Amino acid sequence: MSAFEPLSDEQREIRDLIRELARDRIAPRAAEIDKSAEFPWDVVELFRENDVFGILYDEEYGGIGASSLMTLVAIEEVSKVCATSGLIIAVQELGSLGVKLAGSDEQKQRFLPRLASGEWLAAYALTEPGSGSDSAAMRTTARRDGDTYVLNGGKRFITNAGVAHVYTVFAKTDPDSGHAGISAFVVEADAPGFDVGRIEPKLGIKGSTTGEVFFDDCRIPVDNLLGEEGEGFKIAMRILDRSRPGIGAQALGIAQGATDYALEYAKSRETMGKPIAEHQLIAGKLADMETRCEAARGLLYRCGQLIDDGAEGSALTKISAMSKLYCSDVAMDVTVDAVQILGGYGYIQEYPVERMMRDAKITQIYEGTNEIQRLVIAREMVKENRAFLLAGVG
Ligand SMILES: Cc1cc2nc3c(=O)[nH]c(=O)nc-3n(C[C@H](O)[C@H](O)[C@H](O)COP(=O)(O)OP(=O)(O)OC[C@H]3O[C@@H](n4cnc5c(N)ncnc54)[C@H](O)[C@@H]3O)c2cc1C
Repeated sequence: MSAFEPLSDEQREIRDLIRELARDRIAPRAAEIDKSAEFPWDVVELFRENDVFGILYDEEYGGIGASSLMTLVAIEEVSKVCATSGLIIAVQELGSLGVKLAGSDEQKQRFLPRLASGEWLAAYALTEPGSGSDSAAMRTTARRDGDTYVLNGGKRFITNAGVAHVYTVFAKTDPDSGHAGISAFVVEADAPGFDVGRIEPKLGIKGSTTGEVFFDDCRIPVDNLLGEEGEGFKIAMRILDRSRPGIGAQALGIAQGATDYALEYAKSRETMGKPIAEHQLIAGKLADMETRCEAARGLLYRCGQLIDDGAEGSALTKISAMSKLYCSDVAMDVTVDAVQILGGYGYIQEYPVERMMRDAKITQIYEGTNEIQRLVIAREMVKENRAFLLAGVG
């Protein structure tokens, strides 16, 4: 049971509903989703029926009132039992943020209601074969032609490739410029010239699709440009400031799920005449796992509260990167410890902790690797003026 409780009564009710859905409806599916590596449309249907996507959107667009904190809590609760299913919520937010932050009223009316109901799923397409961490090196282009833009190129490693209807796509409208030449667009899956390529087999989050998307003279209306030409990189970074905590929430859910499972196991598994939870080396591991989850939750929820309070700029960039970095490092360490606590049983697929360990790894990689998060945090630190703290220190 968590000691940290910043949620209102209403938010706690929503959390409890999602916790129940996760326990009763998603947990029994988690091993199968991992094994079949098939996208869990039944989980999407469950989210639709219970208005889970509504948490991400304002009431005027059919949501229940967007709250970042509540979104993080929902992702965390679902990821405790199934990281693939938690990612469905996180990527719906990631793929919608472009329209939410930079969309015109008309674009919001056109796209958000069907995303809020879950009729449409969303995706975010920034990465290319030659540009991951270095997004300015992207080669996909968008050329204006009358009332349309014509896109050419391709994206790689796109979550929800093939299942999303709406893709937030970044392309160069001025190929000779770096960041300043990038623009952001909404591309619908039925646009002429849009195609989905290979779906990658992978280590974890196996039910989530990760794939290539191609633009071959792909024609979209000029009305699908988000913001102005050349604002794409700024939009991409504003989105990531608000979406990275979602990956932190997925990571925290995995970490807490593994901790809870390891605890139950350690209470019932006996060696040398007592439960292994009473052997000090195991007790110490459990205590560290729980403490790190609680610390991660404090940082993550604080970040969610700041977003809901309208934080922008440096302060948000830093805490968002810290939340993603810390939660994902905790998830990796804690899931390795959970496998160790289960001994040989931790390593076999009949128990869920090996899956959790595989799922945890991606949280250190996507939405900016943890090396990049560290660079971002240090850059923000250097910008801060802390000289006054040292005044008088001789
Ligand atoms: C399962 C999965 C889902 C994904 N989903 C999406 C998605 O939905 N949308 C999307 O756009 N992308 C997505 N990605 C892409 C992901 O965000 C990138 O893979 C990631 O940002 C890293 O880029 P890269 O793979 O090109 O690695 P590279 O950028 O080539 O990095 C390789 C290594 O070098 C390090 N490195 C690179 N530059 C620096 C530097 N300046 N300083 C220190 N270290 C550095 C990196 O940290 C990493 O360890 C997904 C990837 C995966 C595997």
